[in-house]
Amino acid sequence: MTKALVIGEMLNGELGAATFEGIAAARILDCSNVAVMIAGASIELAAEQAIFAGADQVFTISQGPAADGEFDDLINASYKIAKEIEPEIIIGSKTIIGRDVMPRLAFRLGTILVPDCMSLERDAEQRIIVTRPTYGGNVNARIACVGQPVVISLRPKSIDAMGLDQSRSGAINEIEFTSNIRTRIIEKIEEKSEGISLQDAKTVVAGGRGLGGPEAFDSLQELAGILGGAVGASRAACDAGWVPSSFQVGLTGKTVSPDLYIAIGISGASQHMAGCSNAKTLVAINKDEGANIFKEARFGVKGDWEKVIPAFIEQLHELIN
Ligand SMILES: Cc1cc2nc3c(=O)[nH]c(=O)nc-3n(C[C@H](O)[C@H](O)[C@H](O)COP(=O)(O)OP(=O)(O)OC[C@H]3O[C@@H](n4cnc5c(N)ncnc54)[C@H](O)[C@@H]3O)c2cc1C
Repeated sequence: MTKALVIGEMLNGELGAATFEGIAAARILDCSNVAVMIAGASIELAAEQAIFAGADQVFTISQGPAADGEFDDLINASYKIAKEIEPEIIIGSKTIIGRDVMPRLAFRLGTILVPDCMSLERDAEQRIIVTRPTYGGNVNARIACVGQPVVISLRPKSIDAMGLDQSRSGAINEIEFTSNIRTRIIEKIEEKSEGISLQDAKTVVAGGRGLGGPEAFDSLQELAGILGGAVGASRAACDAGWVPSSFQVGLTGKTVSPDLYIAIGISGASQHMAGCSNAKTLVAINKDEGANIFKEARFGVKGDWEKVIPAFIEQLHELIN
């Protein structure tokens, strides 16, 4: 029997996308038993949702530090479950929680983490093969995972969640484990964001150094507003202080997977593309026709953003009215 353990996540009191995507990933591998761990207050409904989404078994933590999101105890609990059920694979997500929990869990289990996986499958020998970006996103590596358990973190939105099947049933059990907190979260500061968050937006309008200054981002904000999207930026624009670093897309910023990504005044460095190459359609606006971004883009406009963007906004207003 091939077992999978999904390190689930809650989001605003509901089962988060990371959990649905993790369960779907385990199902892609045809694991015969999919267990999920979730922590948080009042999680009965979420546990049931996890079963409807494809889990066979849900381990819950409804009180104590782990339920409040303390990473140390999330690791203690997941380690205990992993030892108990001996899964072939442990699946987390490349979220704030996953970035902390997954490498430490892998270390404690004496194995390694394959982070930022975009797809996974089995080969003819039934080995788990994962695909992840490497060399700053310049190439995708296919990695055959040989040790056990395999511990991976999924790039958010790279795997489609399955539909809910309300006829499914499964076991839901509260876990007992020994709490041991060595690092404590002393304060959580909510990132202030108006409108749709960058990572959830179906349209992202991103600006780079080519915009020349912070004022230009007002035009991008206007464009994003019309398209119902969010504004992102390259690291160069963030480092210049034109927009907060929370806007940064890329290897050391956020990973986005929108339907439409409009890159304006961005050259298309591999470290930037690592964060947006999953976009369904990429449009580039750049005055240099040799810019790398045109190799990546489905549609390109060669021109000065100062002319292109106002005309684009005007056209959109005409279409809407
Ligand atoms: C370890 C590491 C991690 C990194 N992580 C990230 C990351 O997470 N995200 C990230 O973005 N970068 C990252 N970088 C930096 C990355 O290598 C690039 O330096 C950065 O992406 C460049 O930003 P840019 O495209 O805005 O600027 P540039 O490369 O300077 O490009 C500006 C572009 O604007 C165009 N332009 C100029 N004027 C106009 C105009 N008027 N109209 C239209 N187009 C115009 C130019 O032709 C040019 O193509 C990282 C680098 C390293 C080494």
